[in-house]
Parts: sequence; C-alpha cells; structure tokens
Amino acid sequence: MIRLSNIQKSYWVGHQELKVLKGINLEVSNGELVSIMGPSGSGKSTLLNILGILDVYDRGSYTLDGNLIQNLKEKQAAYYRNRLLGFVFQSFNLLSFKNALENVAMPLYYQKVSRKKRNELAFEYLKRVGLEDRALHMPSELSGGQKQRVAIARALITDPKVILADEPTGALDSQTSVNVMNLLKQVNNEGKTVIIVTHENEIANETQRVIRLKDGLITSDEVPNGKVLG
Ligand code: ATP
Ligand code: MG
Repeated sequence: MIRLSNIQKSYWVGHQELKVLKGINLEVSNGELVSIMGPSGSGKSTLLNILGILDVYDRGSYTLDGNLIQNLKEKQAAYYRNRLLGFVFQSFNLLSFKNALENVAMPLYYQKVSRKKRNELAFEYLKRVGLEDRALHMPSELSGGQKQRVAIARALITDPKVILADEPTGALDSQTSVNVMNLLKQVNNEGKTVIIVTHENEIANETQRVIRLKDGLITSDEVPNGKVLG
C-alpha cells in the first residue's frame, strides 16, 4: 500500500524556487493498475521518482508497505528500492555493454545472489517476456519493444510489490505499445501494483484508475469511463 499525504516538492534553480508538487494526497492499494496523466511539466516524473525513492520530497509524508519513506540514508533507500520497487523507463535504461541476460540479472547482483542463480533466474524472466532466444543479444541488437521487454524482465526479477513505469511506451510504435501494455497488465494480474505515467489515452484506458496532474496538483482521479471513484 502506498500512501502520500500532502507531498510537496520544489526544485531550486539558482535563487528561484520552482514548486513542482504542491500537496499531493494519494492512496494506492496493493494490486491496483493506475495511470498518471497530465501536461508536460505538471510533475508526473517527479511524483514517480518520489514514489520510487529516486528523489526526495520537502514536506508531507510517504509510507510504502508500512514503512515511512523519509530522511532515509542511501543504504536504506537502496534496500527499499531493491526489495519493493521495479522501474521501467521510456528510454529503457539498459546497460549498453551488457547483453540481455546480464541486464536482467543485474538487480540480483546487488542482492549478492550467486552468478549461477542470477543467470538461471534471468533466463526464466527473459522467457516470461518471450525473449529467451535473445539472451545473448546486446541492447543495440534488439528492437525497441524487445528492449522494453528486457527492461520489464529486469524490473520483475527481484519480485517487487510495485512496478513504476515512466512513459514505458513513449518510444514505441502503437502495435509494440499494445504488446508492452499487455505485458504490464499481465504483471498486474499476477498481483503487482503497477503505476504508469503516460500521455496516451489508449494506454490510460487499459488501466483501472486514471489520475490527472496539473501544475503539481491532482485534478481528477477516475476510472477511465468517467465514473468518479468513491
Ligand atoms: P513530461 O510529461 O514532459 O515528462 P512531467 O510531468 O514528467 O513532464 P517533471 O519531469 O516532473 O514533469 O517536471 C516538473 C517540472 O519540474 C518541470 O517544470 C521541470 O522543468 C522541473 N524539473 C524537473 N526536474 C528538475 C530538476 N532536477 N531541477 C530543476 N527543475 C526540474
Ligand atoms: Mg516526465
């Protein structure tokens, strides 16, 4: 369970304060499939990065799975990131000098899992995303959709509770987007909370709940057919 209460965040550019999140209140239950939409610059990535403990907030509180995420030392933050969270980015963020299998196995390296076990599991997860025959390909030898599937396998390998995806289909054509979205839906069906930032209505319509941000505030929180959630 994710609970954000009055989250505020500013960036400072020189002496200029840029208020990016102005009081975000949000609860996401385990197993939800949620999309976050809103204009460019409205704070979507900032919010996702705070949820992912990749960035810190200034005011308010964030609890993740009962843990207060506040003033964490980097080691603690890394612990939660590794155990509870998986990330998928628009630009895939694969390591270019590692093959698909090694990319998927990477998070387990930080959990000190043996190389043999890492590779076994990585192969299993590559299989899950339908890429067992691409294990030895380098990222430059994969299509965009395949790269994103490798990234999803990498996000899943630590069995996180929550998958955070920042415009995961933003760099893909529409058919490939559908495939990647189907994979994320399947992941959600298996019980994981999935939060997707997207600009695309086709993607948001596939989720159970659409949260709209504008100017650092939530302006609506609805099921995609327009019915307001209690
Ligand atoms: P997009 O749809 O274009 O990805 P977004 O909703 O994800 O937009 P954010 O990336 O969260 O927007 O950025 C919100 C605002 O904060 C923007 O005005 C941006 O310029 C500013 N911003 C983001 N990161 C920083 C930073 N590290 N330092 C200063 N300003 C930043
Ligand atoms: Mg963004």
